[in-house]
Amino acid sequence: MKWSPRVKPIKIRRLYRAARLGLHDDDLLQTVGWELYGRCADIAAVADVYRDGLVPCPQCSAKIKRRIDPLFHTSDGGTHENWFHCPDCTQRLLWRDCREALRESPRCFDCYTLLDGAEELRCRCGKAWDRKAYHRSVRTRVRLPCPHCGLMIRKPVFETTRQVVRRHRSRPEMECPKCQATALHVHGNIECTSCGYKRRWRDYRKSLKKRDERLECASCGYSFRWQAWRKSARSLRTGNPGPAREFIERWPKCRTAKARMIQIDRLLQALHGRGALAPLFIVGNARNIRQMLDEFASQV
Ligand SMILES: [Zn+2]
Ligand SMILES: [Zn+2]
Ligand SMILES: [Zn+2]
Ligand SMILES: [Zn+2]
Ligand SMILES: [Zn+2]
Repeated sequence: MKWSPRVKPIKIRRLYRAARLGLHDDDLLQTVGWELYGRCADIAAVADVYRDGLVPCPQCSAKIKRRIDPLFHTSDGGTHENWFHCPDCTQRLLWRDCREALRESPRCFDCYTLLDGAEELRCRCGKAWDRKAYHRSVRTRVRLPCPHCGLMIRKPVFETTRQVVRRHRSRPEMECPKCQATALHVHGNIECTSCGYKRRWRDYRKSLKKRDERLECASCGYSFRWQAWRKSARSLRTGNPGPAREFIERWPKCRTAKARMIQIDRLLQALHGRGALAPLFIVGNARNIRQMLDEFASQV
């Protein structure tokens, strides 16, 4: 997969230096803006893959459906039946988004501050977690912060949709690993309708996670490993693609240098204070980028 590079901070600094003097270097604005745009497009594309289970072919960009996706998204609260809205910022969420945001940038469960440390995650407020224990806890907690505003929200219960989900689950979406006929998910097992293959659902899922998943493009015939694709996209993955999506939508509509500067500034403001999100767009680590964005914020 060929991804757009991250934007160099030196170019962004030059933009702000000029803006401070009331100048707009439109060549530089265009360069930085389109670089950010390319990166945003990649971030949004990767987010789509995790949302929809459709992977763009690295050769021709046609969308390829992951075969095992239904196994993940139904159990993980990933379908549109499971959308809900943050009561504070009203952003649309999946419970999975709340978990993934913390998986990427661990935050304190109490005060939402970004946690520091490698093996032990420490918070300014005094709380500390062993990294493994923290991630285990993210998986099982029923209260997690909203990835957009940080409000603690309760895992939603979908009483009315539970049946829908169950019916959906038992729909013939899988192949029997032995004979490739249709297999069903019934009573905690996967059962083949043709050869009689039967296995505990949980074991089956686990084995799929471990096994290489080969994807083949129906339009160009290219075949590749999902695991390799996922690895190549790792630095683009976020539970909060909102700022990237907004930029993609608005940037091409900017007609003047001033409008372009405003749009770039909007994106950077959105990244400011979101810790691990900024290094997806800009070269550098969270701390260096935050320092730079702090400086810009105090300029205005
Ligand atoms: Zn499905
Ligand atoms: Zn804390
Ligand atoms: Zn929120
Ligand atoms: Zn079979
Ligand atoms: Zn293709």
